[in-house]
Amino acid sequence: MRLVLLGAPGAGKGTQAALLKERYGLAHVSTGDIFRENLKNSTPLGLEAKKYMDAGQLVPDETVMKMVGAKLAELENENSKGFMLDGFPRTVAQAEFLESKTKIDGVILFSVDDEAIVKRLSSRAVCKDCGNVTTRLEHDKCPYCGGELYTREDDNETTVRSRLKVFHEQTEPLVKFYRDRNLLLEVDASQKPEKVFADVVELLDHDKN
Ligand code: AMP
Repeated sequence: MRLVLLGAPGAGKGTQAALLKERYGLAHVSTGDIFRENLKNSTPLGLEAKKYMDAGQLVPDETVMKMVGAKLAELENENSKGFMLDGFPRTVAQAEFLESKTKIDGVILFSVDDEAIVKRLSSRAVCKDCGNVTTRLEHDKCPYCGGELYTREDDNETTVRSRLKVFHEQTEPLVKFYRDRNLLLEVDASQKPEKVFADVVELLDHDKN
């Protein structure tokens, strides 16, 4: 199964990807995570991406497509159960590139309104050790492994609002792109993560039959 997880920043794509990985054994490819990993290691790719990430803007298509192209080639050789793309594609040009490279079975759209996202991201925290995402409202240590939590640099309100603007202008056209191809599956992502996950599973299992 080859899926695209589509939704605004903070819609819960990463959280759902971790659950889907466990249930269906799919590889999780997050372009944001790849950029953050490159930045941590100060690679030329990470340093190039940083200026866009800090401003809440998109890294140029050409750079992202080169990186994802290499990752897709790796995945083709892995002979796995499939993969989920989280945070890619984010523009129509990226979606066309993806279409030219591989066949996607479904696109899950996680819908949440902007104000709920701003509120959600103001308390979002990530574990330094295991990478799980949680909320500072309920935890001061990682609830999964006890690790220390940190706040992503781009989760401040000003950057979150830029990221939302970019989402509406550049990524939302993908809803029509995938609806036209009969690939879109929509879930209400304003619900609790367990309920969102149950809805996703129902949609996927129904879609398979
Ligand atoms: P994310 O972790 O998915 O929220 O991504 C964090 C940041 O990485 C984004 O705000 C962009 O600056 C950059 N980024 C991640 N994926 C893409 C993409 N597909 N196209 C362009 N920029 C991206």
